[in-house]
Amino acid sequence: MKMVTEEDINKIKYKAMIATNVTSVRLSTKKMKAIAYYDWKNDLIVINESVLNNLSEDCLTYIIVHEIVHKLTNTRSHGAKFLNKLLCIYSMDDIIKYETEITKFNTIS
Ligand SMILES: [Zn+2]
Repeated sequence: MKMVTEEDINKIKYKAMIATNVTSVRLSTKKMKAIAYYDWKNDLIVINESVLNNLSEDCLTYIIVHEIVHKLTNTRSHGAKFLNKLLCIYSMDDIIKYETEITKFNTIS
């Protein structure tokens, strides 16, 4: 198992910020069942601690982008509004590829 450093996390965070054109992202890690979620109350993206060490860097970037898109589109589900925004950033092929990698691990929320 690889160990993700603080530096790695920052690198991934900045890649996600550039992709979504946002100027700040607050991240937190937690031991939990879900892969990741957006904490609306605290404007915080919470990521499963074990995911960090088990998924690829590109997939982790996708997870953060995914959660940022929830915030940007003000959506909690994966309907047209959410998907249209995500498709401005990733192709459908990439979305399927990353969601498959994630699903092998758990379920993103
Ligand atoms: Zn989602």
